[in-house]
Amino acid sequence: MAEKRRFQAIKGTRDLLPPETELWNRVEATSREVFGTFGFGEIRPPIFEPTELFARAVGGETDIVSKEMYSFEDRDDTSVSLRPEATASVCRAYIEHNMHAWTQPVKLYYIGPMFRRERPQKGRYRQFYQIGAEVLETLQQGQGGPKDIAKDAAVDAEVVEMVMTFFARLGLEGVQLEINSIGHNAAECRRGYVEKLRAALTEVKDQLGEDSRRRIETNPLRVLDSKLEHEQPIIEKLPRISDHLCDDCRKNFAEVKRQLDLRGVVYKENWRLVRGLDYYMRTTFEITARGLGSQNAVCGGGRYDGLVELLGGQATKGIGFAIGEDRLILSLLEARKEVASDEWRVASGRIGCDVYIAWMGSDCQVAAIKAAQELRAAGLRVELPPVELKFGKALGQADKVGARFALILGEDEVASGQWTVKTLADGTQEKVSAAEMVDWVRRKTGAKV
Ligand code: ATP
Ligand code: MG
Repeated sequence: MAEKRRFQAIKGTRDLLPPETELWNRVEATSREVFGTFGFGEIRPPIFEPTELFARAVGGETDIVSKEMYSFEDRDDTSVSLRPEATASVCRAYIEHNMHAWTQPVKLYYIGPMFRRERPQKGRYRQFYQIGAEVLETLQQGQGGPKDIAKDAAVDAEVVEMVMTFFARLGLEGVQLEINSIGHNAAECRRGYVEKLRAALTEVKDQLGEDSRRRIETNPLRVLDSKLEHEQPIIEKLPRISDHLCDDCRKNFAEVKRQLDLRGVVYKENWRLVRGLDYYMRTTFEITARGLGSQNAVCGGGRYDGLVELLGGQATKGIGFAIGEDRLILSLLEARKEVASDEWRVASGRIGCDVYIAWMGSDCQVAAIKAAQELRAAGLRVELPPVELKFGKALGQADKVGARFALILGEDEVASGQWTVKTLADGTQEKVSAAEMVDWVRRKTGAKV
C-alpha cells in the first residue's frame, strides 16, 4: 500500500476560500465596472511566455528577472517563464494582433495571477494577483512634438484618476499617492543624472551597505529605494533627479501635476520613487494603503514610451499600472470596512461609451473634467479627450468609440450653464442645464439610479 501523504500548497502559494473569495469577486467586478466607465476593455494573456520576452521588457539586471522568475525548459528545449508581471505580455499581444490599426489609444486591463520567487511574508507571495491596465498609442506621422507633452500628461493623470476612483469606490482607507518624474533616457536628462548619482555614490561608498554598493554599478537609481536606517541621511544629500530633468520632462511633470489638480486627485511628490522595472520613463507613481505593515504598496505604475518598439513593434507610447490585489484585499479586510453588498454593482458587460465630452478652450476643460467625474460617478461610461479637439473631429471620434451622446462644451455653453447634448443615432441636439445633465443621461440610457 502506498504511504499516506498529505499534500500542502507550495510555499508562497495559497488557496483563496469562501467567504473571502466573495470579496475578491466583488473587487474584480468593481474594477471591471470602474475601468469600463473609462473606456477600457479586458485582455487575458497567457500565464507563461518565452523567457526572453521578460528578459527584454523587464530587464535582465532587475531582481525580478535575475532572481525571482520561475523559468523552465519546455519539452522542446525552449525556455519559458511564468509571468512575473503582465505589461510585457500586453505589449507582445498589442504587436501580435496589430493593435496599432485599432482606434487609438488602445485601453486594456487585465486581472490574474503573477509569479515571483520572493521570500513569503504578509502581503508578499510567490503566486499573487494583479489588476492592471495599460493605455497604448502608436505614434502617427508628425506626432511627438511639444503638444504631445501636454497630451501625455492628461493621459497619465486620467489613468491615475481611474485607480483612485476605483480605490474610493472600494472604500479603501489611508490611500496615499506618490508621484515622480524619472525623466527620459537622454544624456541631458536621466542618463546624465545617473552618472552624477553614480559619482556621488562612489564618494560615499564606504558608508553604504553591501546591496547599495553593488547597485552603484548595476543600477544606481535603486539605491534611492533603500530602507536601511543608516543610509537614510546619506541618501538625503544625494543629487535629485528633479534638478536634472530636461526642459520637456520638466514641462511634462508640471503638466501632470496640473492635470491631477484639475481632477481633484491629491498626491505627494517623492523624488526617491524610481520603481524597479527598467522600462519606465517620465511619470512614475506608487500608491500605499493602511494596515499592511512594510508591504504597504498597493499599486505601482508609470509611463513606458518605447517598450513596444523594444519588443519589435512600432514607436508606441504606453502608460499603465498594476495593483496588488492580495494587498488591496488585506487592507480592506484589516479595516473591517467591507461595504454592504448592495453597494457593489456587478459590471454590466456592455462595451462602448455613453457620453463623449467634446470640449474646446482651457476654461472648458475644467467643466469637462467635472462633468466626466459626475457622469462616471453615476456609473456612465465617459470618454474625455485629453486635449482639445475641433468639434468636428471630436464628433467623429465620438462616433468611432460608439458613443450614444456627445456633450458639447464650448465657451457659450460654460458661460450660460446650458450644455448642448447631441444624440448620435439621429443627430438631434438639445440644451440641458449643467445641473440636470446626469439625470438627463440616466433617463435616456435607462441606467439605474
Ligand atoms: P514591492 O516593492 O512591494 O516588492 P514591486 O515594486 O516589486 O513591489 P510591482 O512590480 O510594481 O511591485 O507590482 C505592483 C504591485 O504588485 C505592488 O505594488 C504590490 O502591491 C504587488 N506585488 C508585487 N509583488 C508582490 C508579491 N510578491 N506578493 C504580493 N503582491 C505583490
Ligand atoms: Mg518587488
